[in-house]
Amino acid sequence: MNKNNFEAYLVGGCVRDLLCGLNPKDFDIATNATPSEIKKIFKASRIIGKRFKLVHIFDRSELIEVATFRSGETTNNDSNLVKDESGKIIRDNIWGTLEQDTFRRDFTINALYYCPTSKKIEDNNNGLQHINKGLIVSIGDPQKRFAEDPVRCLRAIRFSNKLSFKIDNQIKDAIYKKGHLLANISNARLFDEFCKIFLYGNAERNFNKLSIFGLNKYLLLTEINQNQFSNKLIEESLRNTDKRYLNDQSVTPGFLIAALLWPVVLESCKSNNQINLRKFFRGMDKILRNQQNLTAVPRKFHTYIKDIWVLQLKLHSRIGKQPYKTLKHPRFRAAYDLLLIREKVSEKKMHLGKWWTDFQKNNDSLRKDLIEDLKNKKEKESFKTFGFSKELI
Ligand code: ATP
Ligand code: MG
Repeated sequence: MNKNNFEAYLVGGCVRDLLCGLNPKDFDIATNATPSEIKKIFKASRIIGKRFKLVHIFDRSELIEVATFRSGETTNNDSNLVKDESGKIIRDNIWGTLEQDTFRRDFTINALYYCPTSKKIEDNNNGLQHINKGLIVSIGDPQKRFAEDPVRCLRAIRFSNKLSFKIDNQIKDAIYKKGHLLANISNARLFDEFCKIFLYGNAERNFNKLSIFGLNKYLLLTEINQNQFSNKLIEESLRNTDKRYLNDQSVTPGFLIAALLWPVVLESCKSNNQINLRKFFRGMDKILRNQQNLTAVPRKFHTYIKDIWVLQLKLHSRIGKQPYKTLKHPRFRAAYDLLLIREKVSEKKMHLGKWWTDFQKNNDSLRKDLIEDLKNKKEKESFKTFGFSKELI
């Protein structure tokens, strides 16, 4: 871009993460070229967004996001910068200078601009100093900035855990005062944020900090009567997701949502401490719809989540051909993983996980023995209650 006489800087997360010794997960560029000028320079690019126009440049397998400097200021009736009655910005397409652009960013540590030509960092808000101190500081009055965009409450918490930084007291105060505005944020945006919060290795810490500020309810459906089992199950599911992330195993929002909402599913179908199957099957769609109102879980995950739930029941039924069928189910592995989590936090040890661990071994006579053994043991589960005795887990 510099060749075309435009200024271009690496900005935001990548500069911040590199300075903190972390691997950036993507690269953002800020420039004085307008979206259409950028598009002319890069063939493989696309202008996206209406309210906040950006250009996506495709460079082999990488996607680079390029944003034009914004001024963040407006004359009274400029339709390119629009706020609603709570002060929330709903359109921001007024171009500006680098200096102006820094002021519309959320935190000082996110407003560092690295110029690859001069190899210098532009730092108008003491971002470098705050990185050294390990502190998240808002650019401008956080009350006002968080009303403009309440998602900044979630971002402050996420960055503080990711970087092990402290949150400045003024920000804490603003989260308490403006957090409730998250109820007005689109479910699509909250789903994106949900994934960033829970699928990148800090799920447990993020959940705990969000709960101090009472913000989990904007991201996740919870039971009306929470109990120790649901708390433990949530904690274990988050911990398990973090472990998988650290071990480079796949983590999907589908699995995590299935696990986190399992206590809600149980609550919806509990009847005299047994599972009411009619309620169970009817409840699943309603629960997904309610979660959908909070975070726009993509359609492709809905059947996946429901399969995992239904398989929780099927895993209890181990008579005749049923276990062979269950094992062949494409979601068996995910369902088995959830079973292990449930069992880990359950008081009543069912040994069901161990049974399925053995059954998965490719050994025909062992499989027959396992089914045969059940006939003689108390562990045999009745189909009707799926062995969900007292605890319903
Ligand atoms: P990460 O990619 O690790 O989530 P990031 O800081 O790069 O962190 P992005 O969402 O990629 O986050 O945004 C890039 C930059 O754009 C941020 O560093 C920040 O300067 C600015 N930005 C993003 N979201 C907001 C927001 N809601 N309010 C103000 N500035 C924002
Ligand atoms: Mg980024």
